[in-house]
Amino acid sequence: MITIPPAVLSRVAKPARYTGHEHNSVVKDPAGVDAAFALAFPDVYEVGMSHLGLKILYHIINRRPDAAAERVYAPWPDMEAEMRAAGIPLHTLESFRPVGEFDVVGFTLQYELSYTNILNMLDLAGIPLKSADRGEGHPLIIAGGPCAFNAEPLADFIDFFVLGESEEAVDDVAAAVADWKKAGKPGGRRGFLARAAAIPGVYVPAFYDAAYNADGTLAAVTANHPAAPPVVTKRVVADLEQVAYPTKPVLPFLEIIHDRIMLELFRGCTRGCRFCQAGVLYRPVRERKPETLLRLAQELVDNTGYSEISLTSLSSADYSCLKDIVGRLIDQFKDQGVSVSLPSLRIDSFSIELAQEVQKVRKSGLTFAPEAGTQRLRDVINKGVTEKDLEEAVGAAFRAGWSGVKLYFMIGLPTETDDDIKGIAALARRVTDIYREVKGKRGAKVSVSVSSFVPKPHTPFQWYGQNDMAELERKQQLLKTLFKDRSVSFSWHDAHVSFLEAVFARGDRRLGEVLLAAWRQGAKFDGWSEYFKFALWQEAFREAGVDPHFYAGRERTADEVLPWDHLSAGVDKAFLEREYRQALDAAPTADCRRGDCSVCGVCQGLGVDIIDWGASS
Ligand code: SF4
Repeated sequence: MITIPPAVLSRVAKPARYTGHEHNSVVKDPAGVDAAFALAFPDVYEVGMSHLGLKILYHIINRRPDAAAERVYAPWPDMEAEMRAAGIPLHTLESFRPVGEFDVVGFTLQYELSYTNILNMLDLAGIPLKSADRGEGHPLIIAGGPCAFNAEPLADFIDFFVLGESEEAVDDVAAAVADWKKAGKPGGRRGFLARAAAIPGVYVPAFYDAAYNADGTLAAVTANHPAAPPVVTKRVVADLEQVAYPTKPVLPFLEIIHDRIMLELFRGCTRGCRFCQAGVLYRPVRERKPETLLRLAQELVDNTGYSEISLTSLSSADYSCLKDIVGRLIDQFKDQGVSVSLPSLRIDSFSIELAQEVQKVRKSGLTFAPEAGTQRLRDVINKGVTEKDLEEAVGAAFRAGWSGVKLYFMIGLPTETDDDIKGIAALARRVTDIYREVKGKRGAKVSVSVSSFVPKPHTPFQWYGQNDMAELERKQQLLKTLFKDRSVSFSWHDAHVSFLEAVFARGDRRLGEVLLAAWRQGAKFDGWSEYFKFALWQEAFREAGVDPHFYAGRERTADEVLPWDHLSAGVDKAFLEREYRQALDAAPTADCRRGDCSVCGVCQGLGVDIIDWGASS
């Protein structure tokens, strides 16, 4: 067990990140379990502690008598420096055991720019960074989460990936680890990986070879081991009622990003925005029953003492019984002073009515995401909202007493022209005009936030070449000149960050050397602007002999082998191609939950159905 000297804690910011002993944390005797997991989040405590996926894994593993799950987050650089100076290895917050002593270290992959933190954490744990260099005494390194759907940039470092929803998969993995250990670890690490490869949804990169064409494109990724399937397909929970929900989450001693109850209403989204990766990865929509949600909410309130319930899903306003559940939650908890909040709103007046009902939202302002400035471009991305929808929603919000709204847009979308960019400014101006019409005076607070489009694997836009950085910056400058009015505040994302995201989102195995080079030169916490150093990445690409533009900016042809073709989200490539063509024609595709099934392949191929309680009642 590691003891951190009090003098160390006194020198670092937010020592409560490292002290553990939080309420509801689960401490088991390591000698009493067969499979010990260190659940590692490659970002700082406050971010990792806010992540629902990790809470789910922690709960599911700790429910098993034969397994234990402990937590570890990336130490902030001040703490890292102290740890390295004092020779303190990376350790968990439950038993304070070194991460290197666990059977399994599991990383959550949420964001491409957290990859260097994974290498840094492995290094701090004293675990060889490359899978091939690990010996029998080292833990198995696994990873899951949305970025696992293009696992290739991390193929050298991760022993195996789990694709898709974890609730059932992690039980299979835990059972396999326990069995293998009890049997005396037959075949060693490789023997275990062969067992793991037979678990649905598990991808063992070492069991596949990548071959390249003379022009540098991928020729094929083929299995080289009898246990490895040619294509690994994601796990999906057919019915969320059947899996456990973390109703006793660990309670932090310091403020975290989402410091409230997270109640997941449903999984999936069928709106079909063509840029959205989550919309593909979590298909189809599966709702929890209102009664189940009320029961879970009661348990969560009883076990945490939180006074806010946040209804979290990809698009919570799409829950079919939303009005009903919001009303019942408010009734059930009003005497306890517990409020309800809706983090994502649809652009319509119904959402405003609801937002009014859950007064809490009023404080934080309302956020809408038209995503694009013109109707033509919104049709290209299949956003399914019109300017009239926005006008009505914003008008309703101002009439209901709000005076500020946030608007989210993207630039660099396929087929975008400068007219679409100008449309963003026009739409923001229209919102300030509506305020004047409603209130009879000026004074609306409109904030416009613009991110740069990143083409993501498994989406209809996966083939599209990202705008280069100069073009993105030109578009940002154009917008800046259009926002002269002081009632509109304008912010945008760094184009260099979006570029790197695109490189790693669409990259292949050759990027492993770039990651190593960047990490060696000190890259970490790249998602944090104060630590992001683009020059260092440029140097890493040079050192590894890799051209990043080959990955981010190149339009890929339909017949090109993509680095994630052997990893399936259950959605047919033919459907994505069809959607890309429809996008170029600005032709819409209906929400398959309310309209016709557009045969994306998920329900048919995975044998799961949409579960929609509103439609069935
Ligand atoms: S198969 Fe049809 S109903 Fe199911 S998610 Fe795909 S488009 Fe929707």
